Amino acid sequence: SRIPLLAGNWKMNLDHLEATYFVQKLVWLLRDARFDYSRCEIALMPSFTSLRSVQVLVEADKLKIRYGAQAVSVTTQGAFTGDVSADMIAHLGCSYVIVGHSERRKYHPEDDVNIVDQVRAVLAAGMQPILCVGESFEERRQGIELDFAVGQVHDVTRDLSDKEAAKLIIAYEPVWAIGTGMVATPDTAQQAAKAIRDDLGEMFGPAVADTVRILYGGSVSSKNATHLIGEPDVDGFLIGGASLDPDELAKIARLT
Ligand code: 13P
Repeated sequence: SRIPLLAGNWKMNLDHLEATYFVQKLVWLLRDARFDYSRCEIALMPSFTSLRSVQVLVEADKLKIRYGAQAVSVTTQGAFTGDVSADMIAHLGCSYVIVGHSERRKYHPEDDVNIVDQVRAVLAAGMQPILCVGESFEERRQGIELDFAVGQVHDVTRDLSDKEAAKLIIAYEPVWAIGTGMVATPDTAQQAAKAIRDDLGEMFGPAVADTVRILYGGSVSSKNATHLIGEPDVDGFLIGGASLDPDELAKIARLT
């Protein structure tokens, strides 16, 4: 069975000093609550500028939290000013890279082709991509939200091998729920996660579909986490705003 994953997407928040303080506080809170890391995995996604600080802390104190990056270059090295390669990220001890977040799709020229290449780059460097998909309000209004989200996963993953696909983590993040306080109902999250899992099953077989963790993201907080995680196909959360407060994140971890 799948171990839930609680991933905090800090977006462009917290500098390296704040990140250091955050990690220490979070770990202290979880220790205090006798949190069982084998029951739920915790991962933080800081800015590139904080990754080294987080790595030093995690390695020095042998902390059981994982961490990753929020984006990655599709190329391995060379004249790409401002870009960061998958190997550079992997060499910092990262486990995960968020790929195709709706904010990246909106503010950067990231289309499905580019996102496929990011997924491949992350896998080639030995890490796991957290592939973000989800409809906007417009698709939901038209009643095509499930086809849309499933289609996004399908188009990005269809040329992967079964072995590569088994390494994926999918985050279903309806755009209308991100940062709005309008969390999806447990039923909505379950329907989307199930539709995505069924499609993975058709593409890669039941073993892969059974392995891949499908997270829900969009206005998750300690007030709504319990009902969402109760759904059979929701395997954890990708959390924005609520992941910036260690007390709140620790609280969600205890509920997950
Ligand atoms: P919020 O939790 O702030 O709605 O953000 C969700 C998100 O985009 C996580 O990637």
